[in-house]
Amino acid sequence: MSSHATVAEEEYLQTIFWLHEAGLPMTGANVARAMQLSAPTVHEMVGRLERDGYITRAADKSISFTEEGLSQAEAVVRRHRLIERFLTDVLGIAWDDVHEEAERLEHAMSPVLEARMLAAIGDAKTCPHGHPIEPGTRIEGVPLGDVEEGAKITVLRFENEAEDLLHLFKHEGLEPGREGTVATADGEFVTVDFGADSTATLTRSVAETVSVLADPSPPPRTALPEQLVLGKERYGR
Ligand SMILES: [Zn+2]
Repeated sequence: MSSHATVAEEEYLQTIFWLHEAGLPMTGANVARAMQLSAPTVHEMVGRLERDGYITRAADKSISFTEEGLSQAEAVVRRHRLIERFLTDVLGIAWDDVHEEAERLEHAMSPVLEARMLAAIGDAKTCPHGHPIEPGTRIEGVPLGDVEEGAKITVLRFENEAEDLLHLFKHEGLEPGREGTVATADGEFVTVDFGADSTATLTRSVAETVSVLADPSPPPRTALPEQLVLGKERYGR
């Protein structure tokens, strides 16, 4: 077994970890949907991850982490979220511009730099998109798209960190920690009223990629929403 995952393997480990963290089925099909890759491409890489000792596959094709795979996945996820927080809070880069920078930096960071960055971000516990830096501390939420009209919400996180989506959220004033009320929710659009003349309007499919705390709350989801894998052309308004 190789002692260190390749860049490509780390990308897959991150996606599989996100499924694991979100309590979604860890399958090649869900990895393909989440990464917007073809089934054969994912099949090949999943086979490599298995040969390199990071995952195992059951007879029903479900994926499990090995101890080594889980620790490598946690490490790269932690670095990714830490770098994002460092880029926003310390370097002052807008939070809708940091995801892809972090994708590049996360594979090449030494433990010393990681420790320095951790010290530099102070008390921050999540990436700027709401994902916990320390694995295992994720707060369960529900998709904004499931919340009924009139419910009070607190934005928890953006499950899909595609940069175009982040630009859209920023433009609409949606941000982790922000509180509001669902003003309207119909088949097409969800509108959140943040008070003081500030409202966000999202298509229902985009609203499904935003996790919130809601009161009253719909039941949690157990399936991967198809909308998490929207192509750019499908989330325009
Ligand atoms: Zn993030």
